Amino acid sequence: MKHFSEKIIAWYDKNKRDLPWRNTKDAYLIWLSEIILQQTRVDQGMEYYLRFAKEFPTVKHLAKAENEKVMKLWQGLGYYSRARNLHATAKIISENYKGKFPDEYTDIRSLKGIGDYTAAAISSFAFDKAHAVVDGNVYRVLARVFGIESPIDSSQGKKEFAILATELLDKKKPAAHNQAIMELGALQCKPVNPDCSVCVLNTMCFAYSKKLINVLPVKAKKTKVRNRYFNYMVLHHKGTVSINKRTGKDIWTNLYDFPLIETTTELSEDEFLRSKQWKGFIGKNKFIIRSVSTPFKHILSHQKIYARFWELDCEKPLDKFLTKTVLIIKEKDIQKYAVPRLIENYMEKRKK
Ligand code: SF4
Repeated sequence: MKHFSEKIIAWYDKNKRDLPWRNTKDAYLIWLSEIILQQTRVDQGMEYYLRFAKEFPTVKHLAKAENEKVMKLWQGLGYYSRARNLHATAKIISENYKGKFPDEYTDIRSLKGIGDYTAAAISSFAFDKAHAVVDGNVYRVLARVFGIESPIDSSQGKKEFAILATELLDKKKPAAHNQAIMELGALQCKPVNPDCSVCVLNTMCFAYSKKLINVLPVKAKKTKVRNRYFNYMVLHHKGTVSINKRTGKDIWTNLYDFPLIETTTELSEDEFLRSKQWKGFIGKNKFIIRSVSTPFKHILSHQKIYARFWELDCEKPLDKFLTKTVLIIKEKDIQKYAVPRLIENYMEKRKK
């Protein structure tokens, strides 16, 4: 619909934020920004984007990097599978496409970590191909303007929104159109209390005229949140500390934390020290408790973690047989390892 597209592009030209990844047609840099900005606010992502672009100016630089370095640079951004996929995909582009980012939508879409949205964003922003983006901002704008009540997290809803987004796309200006609708969702059509009186779409907006802004868009499922109780064992022995490389399918794969005892419920300090898990862990090792932190609450998309940190001086280092993933390192070297935000927060607080 020309009218819709003209309005949003005119609005975008006047109101857009000047962001570094918008001033380039380099598909690699656009891809980098898109992966960083998934589930991340622009102000937080900016610092990471600049850091990555400086450290790895081309896809080949990223492909050649050590995985530990990539993970360390990503530290604090969360959703670490994004960093792992980013690195794996850089290697594929380097090997299979001679370091040149593919320009066909289907090739881009086939890369690891790139879904429909990211493939459409790269195709349109870097190569001016007519693929419509549909992200959270776009769902919100379309649901409200066109009064679509299909849940955005249902397969029927997703199809409906994708068809509408494609129909609306200005095929001659796909990059500007896509940027405009996303920016309108981010800056103007906010999730809560948008100021509709100044919106360029208010004369055609269904939700505004029917007072349904708080109802649209519709989501079918409520995310189930699981509570977890972590007891981190910060074991000190003659200037060393034990850290644990996380493996397996749980959160934070390949990052480092401390040896962990997870309990199914929240235990008091006394209850914990009487538990079988603790006794099995510490065995015959003699120890002094330096301190026990107050619980740290850490919220992820599907989990709420309550973590307590036990600082212990041990007579012997941790028995290696307890786990193969534990490393005993010099205390000062801990800064070299990529750790989850929760551990970073704790270490920051401990310094004070
Ligand atoms: S009029 Fe309000 S609800 Fe409609 S698109 Fe604009 S900001 Fe969103």
